[in-house]
Amino acid sequence: MPSTMQDFPLSVAAILRHGRRVYGRSECVTWTGGAEPRRATFAQVADNAERLAAALQRLGVRQGGRVATFCWNDQEHLEAYFAVPAMGAVLHTLNIRLFPEQLAHIINHADDQVIIVDDSLVPLLARVVDELPAVEAFVIVGDGDGAPLEANRNGAPVLRYRELLAAEEPGYEWPEVDERSAASMCYTSGTTGDPKGVVYSHRSTFLHAMAVQSASLVGITEADRVLTIVPMFHVNAWGLPYGAFLSGATLHMPGPFMQPQHLTEFIARERSTLASAVPTIWNGILSYGEQHELDLSSLRAGTSGGAAAPRSLLEAFEERYGLRIIQGWGMTETSPLGGMAFPPPEVEPGTPEEMDWRLKSGRVAAGVEMRIVDDAGRELPWDGESVGEIEVRGPWITGSYHRDPAPEKFDDGWLRTGDIGTIDDRGFYQITDRAKDVIKSGGEWISSVELENLLMGHPAVAEAAVIGIPDPRWDERPLACVVLRPDAAATAAELADHLAGRVARWQVPEYWTFMDEIPKTTVGKFDKKPLRARHRSEDLK
Ligand code: ADP
Repeated sequence: MPSTMQDFPLSVAAILRHGRRVYGRSECVTWTGGAEPRRATFAQVADNAERLAAALQRLGVRQGGRVATFCWNDQEHLEAYFAVPAMGAVLHTLNIRLFPEQLAHIINHADDQVIIVDDSLVPLLARVVDELPAVEAFVIVGDGDGAPLEANRNGAPVLRYRELLAAEEPGYEWPEVDERSAASMCYTSGTTGDPKGVVYSHRSTFLHAMAVQSASLVGITEADRVLTIVPMFHVNAWGLPYGAFLSGATLHMPGPFMQPQHLTEFIARERSTLASAVPTIWNGILSYGEQHELDLSSLRAGTSGGAAAPRSLLEAFEERYGLRIIQGWGMTETSPLGGMAFPPPEVEPGTPEEMDWRLKSGRVAAGVEMRIVDDAGRELPWDGESVGEIEVRGPWITGSYHRDPAPEKFDDGWLRTGDIGTIDDRGFYQITDRAKDVIKSGGEWISSVELENLLMGHPAVAEAAVIGIPDPRWDERPLACVVLRPDAAATAAELADHLAGRVARWQVPEYWTFMDEIPKTTVGKFDKKPLRARHRSEDLK
């Protein structure tokens, strides 16, 4: 029997309309490095999105055409976030930290037609400008030098964002789009392989933005001012821009000023209520705070995701600043929210038990279905102990990749996350490792994440990454790569002692190396590929 409900398309245009109508006075505030920040109301952002859509149409962008951004988190990027999908084209957010070959590869793989680029990033894009046969125009945000792009082999014009918008009027009529059509795309950052393109639909974007507002996930409201530290090129800044337009939360955009000094000044001056970042950024803020007075009192919470947050990090923020950081888990493939780790209600806030819950990777979000399976593909119980690969499905989980069906990544309609972990009977899941990072020693698994987090809990340790290295007897053994804090000292034996008693003795690494910095991926996570390569080439032992 058919329902009587209207078949109303869930779309980015609908998100934009709501933000403008209901929350037209909420703001997008872009940090300028210390001078007065730039402010635009959601109504102004919506006007500019309409102008941008008109300008892109004039440049020849049609429904389904790809428009890329090579930008920081700022007002113009937000305008593109709305204009491009709402006009029926596809927004492709480019990771500004990719190696040139990867950057050219994904621009060409996605068939990007126009690239909107921040003037400060022109030199980076210019490195690949002659390798982009399909690009028809470059649009520069800001008044900086555009010359490095102008000599491009295609003769693609280099235009100015400001001038393009000035030539148009607001009032662009958003077309009705199929809610299942592409709205935006993002390539995985390639931590464990080549980047793969994930294409979000209007429907998935809308539903995910609704989820961002729910209290069991991020729970933003009009009373919030959200510092989006997570880049807008990294999984739609975790859905915050779209969630903000649905909820009326003001957006705080750091622009290129990603250093702790700027982020903390922004928070103090504009009274941010929520900030979202990967653990390495949180860690940077913490270290900065050891030398400087910080005012984080406006923050009601922080969110952390993208990698496991160490206990020591969450505890330090709580103790020093009274700041509760809630962690969540997700992936490019999952839009990204899979769940956040809010402790259950009966647990006393501020107790060690509460911290145990907060160190879970998350609790399965409404809208996402999750299961764990063993090597033979058998489903394992939700008992908090059985360890297997996590698989997910749902309306904002990808079912394939752009021009790459990748059947090995799917299991009967479920996305194989490549993450290994447990789920308990209440849907709290714990990622113990990535399948590729887990260390297999004597037929047992050692969690590199657990060792890393325990090591980072030692007062002398700033960063730690643990990799498995081949071992004739045990198959693999852990090698701990450690960065000590400035002026701190600790020997391998002391650090091994610190681990003994906290993990089973056979899990304690016998191989240690001390270094100046753990290499990071383009989105700021520990990058184990170079550590493994270095180990192979020069024997880190
Ligand atoms: P990439 O896959 O290139 O690193 P993503 O940003 O999509 O880029 O990373 C998703 C991965 O990040 C997950 O599969 C998981 O391994 C890791 N991750 C995300 N959040 C957490 C978390 N809270 N705890 C542990 N790992 C996490």
